[in-house]
Amino acid sequence: MIGVEVCHERTARHNSSVAELVAILTGRRIDSVDRHGKFLVIGLDDSHTMVGHLGMSGRFTVTETGAPRESHTHFVARLDDGNEIRFIDPRTFGFVAVYDEDEMGRSGVTRLGRDAYVDPPTSDELAAYLEGRTAPIKALLLDQGSISGLGNIYADESLFGSGLHPLTPGGVIDGEALTALLESIYNVLESAIDNGGTTLDDLAYLLPDGRAGRNRSQLAVYGREGEPCIKCGTPIERVIVRGRSTHYCPECQSR
Ligand SMILES: [Zn+2]
Repeated sequence: MIGVEVCHERTARHNSSVAELVAILTGRRIDSVDRHGKFLVIGLDDSHTMVGHLGMSGRFTVTETGAPRESHTHFVARLDDGNEIRFIDPRTFGFVAVYDEDEMGRSGVTRLGRDAYVDPPTSDELAAYLEGRTAPIKALLLDQGSISGLGNIYADESLFGSGLHPLTPGGVIDGEALTALLESIYNVLESAIDNGGTTLDDLAYLLPDGRAGRNRSQLAVYGREGEPCIKCGTPIERVIVRGRSTHYCPECQSR
């Protein structure tokens, strides 16, 4: 990265200042690009790690240097190959941060559960994590501790696909049901990725090139309160679980 610009203070809020983020990143070579759950994890040549999170509406692009900037471009890292990494984030819930090894250890990124799509836990591992837990499975899927990467939409869809009621206490789910849940999570994520993700009416989530994802039409329960279940016709219900809107079929997902 031969030049770094941060155009919105909030984007740098996980570092002590915009100046710190810029100073540490400038001159660094990118050695690796990974993703873990909802975090983009970029390894740098001096053992720092750059971490990005899209928040509700962020997207990273790699764009030719000098090409017109979209509005809400809050971070730009110029590369030596004629391109720039840009972070466009209208709502500024996302961020870009840089951590040394100690800070990385404390950041929470290292405490995430296994990645839901590329490295999911086995049903035994998931059972061990959930053992004794009385919290609803919906909340446990969202807390990123057992499995990381599921947000509200895909948690609801995964529970529907496995026939689990969202309020089921995590600790009472048996091995067979956990296997079904893991399979459902994989299928839901694979379909969502194939369809470019789920863009709702708010257009918060967009692909890097600005197009909308096409997965919304695949949703079985999320956002379908009162509409008939695709399997049994029963109206989909909505409840609030730990503050998050939760959709399920009371027939297919009985407690
Ligand atoms: Zn149903």
